[in-house]
Amino acid sequence: MSRFRKICLKCDEQQRDTAALNCGICAGPLGFHYSYDDVTWDDRFEGSMWRYWPLLPVDAPEGAVTLGEGGTPLLPAQSFNGRQVYLKDETRNPTGSHKDRSLSVAITHAKAVGADVSVIVSTGSAGISNAALAARAGMRSAVVMTEGTPPERLYPMFEVKAQIDPIVEGVISVCRERGLYLSTTSRNSNPYQCEGNKTIAYEIVEELGGAPDWVVVPVGGGGTISGIWRGFRDCHALGLIDSLPRMIGVVPRDYNALEVAEYDWVYPAGILRPVGTAHDRSAGATSDRWLRGCELLYFRARSRGRPPRHIGRGLGLAGFQPLAREREFEG
Ligand SMILES: [Zn+2]
Repeated sequence: MSRFRKICLKCDEQQRDTAALNCGICAGPLGFHYSYDDVTWDDRFEGSMWRYWPLLPVDAPEGAVTLGEGGTPLLPAQSFNGRQVYLKDETRNPTGSHKDRSLSVAITHAKAVGADVSVIVSTGSAGISNAALAARAGMRSAVVMTEGTPPERLYPMFEVKAQIDPIVEGVISVCRERGLYLSTTSRNSNPYQCEGNKTIAYEIVEELGGAPDWVVVPVGGGGTISGIWRGFRDCHALGLIDSLPRMIGVVPRDYNALEVAEYDWVYPAGILRPVGTAHDRSAGATSDRWLRGCELLYFRARSRGRPPRHIGRGLGLAGFQPLAREREFEG
């Protein structure tokens, strides 16, 4: 019996078609419900994200398509305001980014359902991951990008619903018509890849022996941060941590895809209802309240959470430093 169920996050219908990437009834985005009974990490996969396969959407780990994703170091960094800071070095993944985790899960599923080509919309690291893991599986890969569009401009376009239609939705249609496997790292394109990000949280919890107080994550469309959040929730449900961390999404000031337009939906990685103005300091750092909003996207509910904080151009640590200076982490 499978350890997970694939369900539609829009109409709640359980999905019987193992190959389906969207709901067979309403075409809505899909998610997974896992059994928390008898979950143990698999020591045979020490140093790999597949160590956590009981909470990934596979029935067995033997067929995993992997290049050695995960098991990345958690490096102690200079402390800020007396707090110990760690850096999760995701550049150590096989192609240099955390996207390898997502694509490892997606390509594993693609192979299991007999796909021979994996299509992805990406101008960045996800495209590289797709190419590498598809090659590992003996599959062909295809990357769709808009000619001449600077990468730093292209990614937000994918995340803004109004602009998705001519690009991502078109690719989804073509893939459905031609029976091509779509690995794009958005839930509406592929729900399997979303699950890979959970393993970042599992690794952090295992290494620290508990949950950190705060987790800072660079945010494009919200898929990574919400995946990590779900990983911490799993750990909480399993009794591995007593409390959940507060999450902060860091976005670059100049192309904040989550706040640039009058829209409610950031599709499909997360929902944000922009509150206040982009530079409203009273908005403060985003928090677990916002993360609930992120997850609620899939239920078509509106978030009352706060938008992610504009930090400046820097992502990751560069975005973290001003927060630390402003003593956001107190309390
Ligand atoms: Zn549905």
